[in-house]
Amino acid sequence: MAVRRARAVRVLVDMDCVLADFEGGLLRSFRRRFPADPHVPLEERRGFLVCEQYRALRPDLADKVASVYEAPGFFLDLEPIPGALEAMREMKDMEDTEVFICTSPLMKYEHCVREKYRWVEKHLGPQFVERIILTRDKTVVLGDLLIDDKDTIQGQEKTPRWEHILFTCCHNQHLALPPTRRRLLSWSDNWREIIDSKRGTSL
Ligand SMILES: [Mg+2]
Repeated sequence: MAVRRARAVRVLVDMDCVLADFEGGLLRSFRRRFPADPHVPLEERRGFLVCEQYRALRPDLADKVASVYEAPGFFLDLEPIPGALEAMREMKDMEDTEVFICTSPLMKYEHCVREKYRWVEKHLGPQFVERIILTRDKTVVLGDLLIDDKDTIQGQEKTPRWEHILFTCCHNQHLALPPTRRRLLSWSDNWREIIDSKRGTSL
Protein backbone atom coordinates (compact mmCIF):
# COMPACT_ATOMS: atom_id res chain seq x y z
CA MET A 1 0.00 0.00 0.00
CA ALA A 2 1.36 3.41 -0.94
CA VAL A 3 2.18 5.64 1.97
CA ARG A 4 0.50 9.00 1.59
CA ARG A 5 2.93 11.78 2.25
CA ALA A 6 1.66 14.38 4.68
CA ARG A 7 0.73 17.72 3.24
CA ALA A 8 3.09 20.49 4.26
CA VAL A 9 2.02 22.88 6.99
CA ARG A 10 2.00 26.39 5.55
CA VAL A 11 3.04 29.11 7.97
CA LEU A 12 2.45 32.78 7.19
CA VAL A 13 4.67 35.07 9.27
CA ASP A 14 3.94 38.77 9.63
CA MET A 15 6.82 41.19 9.38
CA ASP A 16 6.39 44.31 11.56
CA CYS A 17 6.68 43.51 15.28
CA VAL A 18 7.18 39.79 14.48
CA LEU A 19 10.35 39.79 12.35
CA ALA A 20 11.28 43.49 12.40
CA ASP A 21 11.16 45.65 15.53
CA PHE A 22 8.77 48.33 14.28
CA GLU A 23 7.74 49.58 17.75
CA GLY A 24 11.27 49.82 19.13
CA GLY A 25 12.60 51.47 15.97
CA LEU A 26 9.73 53.91 15.86
CA LEU A 27 10.16 55.03 19.46
CA ARG A 28 13.90 55.51 19.02
CA SER A 29 13.51 57.52 15.81
CA PHE A 30 10.62 59.56 17.21
CA ARG A 31 12.60 60.60 20.28
CA ARG A 32 15.61 61.45 18.16
CA ARG A 33 13.58 63.59 15.77
CA PHE A 34 11.22 65.21 18.27
CA PRO A 35 13.18 65.30 21.55
CA ALA A 36 11.05 68.12 23.00
CA ASP A 37 7.76 66.28 22.50
CA PRO A 38 6.17 63.71 24.82
CA HIS A 39 6.31 60.06 23.78
CA VAL A 40 4.62 56.80 24.71
CA PRO A 41 7.05 54.35 26.40
CA LEU A 42 6.76 50.80 25.07
CA GLU A 43 5.38 49.54 28.42
CA GLU A 44 2.48 51.96 27.98
CA ARG A 45 1.65 51.17 24.37
CA ARG A 46 -1.94 50.08 23.88
CA GLY A 47 -3.79 49.38 20.66
CA PHE A 48 -2.44 48.31 17.29
CA LEU A 49 -2.28 51.77 15.69
CA VAL A 50 0.54 53.77 17.24
CA CYS A 51 -0.61 57.03 15.65
CA GLU A 52 -3.97 56.76 17.45
CA GLN A 53 -2.31 56.57 20.85
CA TYR A 54 -0.11 59.54 20.01
CA ARG A 55 -3.19 61.44 18.81
CA ALA A 56 -4.84 60.79 22.18
CA LEU A 57 -1.71 62.06 23.94
CA ARG A 58 -1.76 65.27 21.90
CA PRO A 59 -3.51 65.67 18.53
CA ASP A 60 -0.53 67.07 16.62
CA LEU A 61 1.64 64.09 17.57
CA ALA A 62 -0.24 61.71 15.24
CA ASP A 63 1.20 63.37 12.13
CA LYS A 64 4.63 63.61 13.72
CA VAL A 65 4.80 59.91 14.54
CA ALA A 66 3.49 59.02 11.07
CA SER A 67 6.20 61.19 9.51
CA VAL A 68 8.76 59.00 11.27
CA TYR A 69 7.55 55.67 9.86
CA GLU A 70 6.88 57.18 6.44
CA ALA A 71 10.43 58.55 6.16
CA PRO A 72 12.96 56.94 3.81
CA GLY A 73 15.17 54.41 5.57
CA PHE A 74 12.78 53.73 8.44
CA PHE A 75 11.76 50.19 7.46
CA LEU A 76 15.17 49.23 6.13
CA ASP A 77 16.88 50.20 9.39
CA LEU A 78 14.59 48.23 11.73
CA GLU A 79 16.39 45.73 13.94
CA PRO A 80 15.33 42.08 13.76
CA ILE A 81 13.17 40.82 16.64
CA PRO A 82 15.35 38.53 18.84
CA GLY A 83 15.38 34.96 17.54
CA ALA A 84 13.25 35.76 14.48
CA LEU A 85 15.88 35.20 11.79
CA GLU A 86 17.04 31.92 13.31
CA ALA A 87 13.45 30.70 13.62
CA MET A 88 12.69 31.57 9.99
CA ARG A 89 15.76 29.72 8.71
CA GLU A 90 14.96 26.70 10.82
CA MET A 91 11.31 26.74 9.71
CA LYS A 92 12.34 26.91 6.03
CA ASP A 93 14.45 23.79 6.45
CA MET A 94 11.83 21.83 8.40
CA GLU A 95 10.29 18.80 6.71
CA ASP A 96 6.75 19.26 5.43
CA THR A 97 6.73 22.92 6.30
CA GLU A 98 6.32 25.94 4.04
CA VAL A 99 7.03 29.41 5.32
CA PHE A 100 5.96 32.72 3.79
CA ILE A 101 6.35 36.28 4.96
CA CYS A 102 2.91 37.88 4.85
CA THR A 103 2.99 41.62 5.38
CA SER A 104 0.73 44.62 4.79
CA PRO A 105 2.47 47.70 3.41
CA LEU A 106 1.51 51.20 4.49
CA MET A 107 -0.95 53.02 2.26
CA LYS A 108 1.91 55.48 1.78
CA TYR A 109 3.94 52.72 0.18
CA GLU A 110 6.71 54.66 -1.58
CA HIS A 111 9.54 53.69 0.77
CA CYS A 112 7.87 50.94 2.76
CA VAL A 113 7.40 48.39 -0.05
CA ARG A 114 10.90 48.66 -1.47
CA GLU A 115 12.49 48.69 1.97
CA LYS A 116 10.56 45.64 3.15
CA TYR A 117 11.98 43.70 0.19
CA ARG A 118 15.46 45.03 0.89
CA TRP A 119 15.16 44.20 4.60
CA VAL A 120 14.25 40.61 3.82
CA GLU A 121 17.10 40.25 1.36
CA LYS A 122 19.58 41.83 3.80
CA HIS A 123 18.60 39.74 6.82
CA LEU A 124 17.26 36.51 5.34
CA GLY A 125 18.61 36.39 1.80
CA PRO A 126 17.12 36.07 -1.70
CA GLN A 127 15.41 32.75 -0.96
CA PHE A 128 13.09 34.57 1.40
CA VAL A 129 12.48 37.41 -1.06
CA GLU A 130 10.71 34.74 -3.13
CA ARG A 131 8.50 34.07 -0.14
CA ILE A 132 7.15 37.58 0.43
CA ILE A 133 3.40 38.04 0.16
CA LEU A 134 2.45 41.72 0.23
CA THR A 135 -1.23 42.25 0.82
CA ARG A 136 -3.56 44.62 2.60
CA ASP A 137 -5.95 41.70 3.12
CA LYS A 138 -4.43 38.64 4.79
CA THR A 139 -7.79 36.87 5.08
CA VAL A 140 -7.68 35.90 1.39
CA VAL A 141 -4.29 34.18 1.73
CA LEU A 142 -4.33 30.41 2.26
CA GLY A 143 -2.30 28.95 5.09
CA ASP A 144 -2.53 26.86 8.24
CA LEU A 145 -1.09 29.44 10.60
CA LEU A 146 -0.70 33.20 10.57
CA ILE A 147 1.73 34.48 13.20
CA ASP A 148 0.86 38.14 13.62
CA ASP A 149 0.89 40.78 16.37
CA LYS A 150 -2.31 42.50 15.20
CA ASP A 151 -5.06 41.43 17.60
CA THR A 152 -7.94 41.48 15.12
CA ILE A 153 -7.37 40.62 11.48
CA GLN A 154 -10.29 41.27 9.20
CA GLY A 155 -10.89 41.36 5.48
CA GLN A 156 -13.07 40.08 2.66
CA GLU A 157 -12.94 36.49 3.88
CA LYS A 158 -15.02 36.10 7.03
CA THR A 159 -13.62 32.65 7.81
CA PRO A 160 -9.91 32.68 6.88
CA ARG A 161 -8.29 29.27 6.46
CA TRP A 162 -5.45 29.99 8.85
CA GLU A 163 -5.40 29.96 12.62
CA HIS A 164 -4.20 33.32 13.86
CA ILE A 165 -1.45 32.98 16.46
CA LEU A 166 -1.09 36.29 18.28
CA PHE A 167 2.58 37.22 18.52
CA THR A 168 3.07 39.10 21.76
CA CYS A 169 4.17 42.70 21.39
CA CYS A 170 4.08 45.77 23.66
CA HIS A 171 0.73 46.94 22.28
CA ASN A 172 -1.12 43.61 22.72
CA GLN A 173 0.46 42.03 25.79
CA HIS A 174 -2.35 43.12 28.13
CA LEU A 175 -5.17 41.74 26.01
CA ALA A 176 -7.08 38.79 27.45
CA LEU A 177 -7.73 36.31 24.66
CA PRO A 178 -10.64 33.90 24.52
CA PRO A 179 -9.52 30.38 25.53
CA THR A 180 -9.64 29.17 21.92
CA ARG A 181 -6.96 31.61 20.81
CA ARG A 182 -3.23 30.95 21.10
CA ARG A 183 -0.27 33.24 21.58
CA LEU A 184 3.38 33.02 20.74
CA LEU A 185 5.08 34.98 23.51
CA SER A 186 8.37 35.44 21.62
CA TRP A 187 10.61 33.44 19.28
CA SER A 188 11.91 31.61 22.38
CA ASP A 189 8.40 30.30 22.92
CA ASN A 190 7.44 26.94 21.45
CA TRP A 191 6.64 27.78 17.83
CA ARG A 192 7.69 24.27 16.75
CA GLU A 193 4.92 22.76 18.86
CA ILE A 194 2.37 25.13 17.33
CA ILE A 195 3.42 24.06 13.82
CA ASP A 196 3.31 20.38 14.81
CA SER A 197 -0.22 20.84 16.15
CA LYS A 198 -1.32 21.52 12.58
CA ARG A 199 0.13 18.37 11.08
CA GLY A 200 -2.42 15.95 9.74
CA THR A 201 -5.11 18.61 9.37
CA SER A 202 -6.24 19.74 5.96
CA LEU A 203 -6.80 23.18 4.49
MG1 LIG B 1 2.76 43.24 12.56
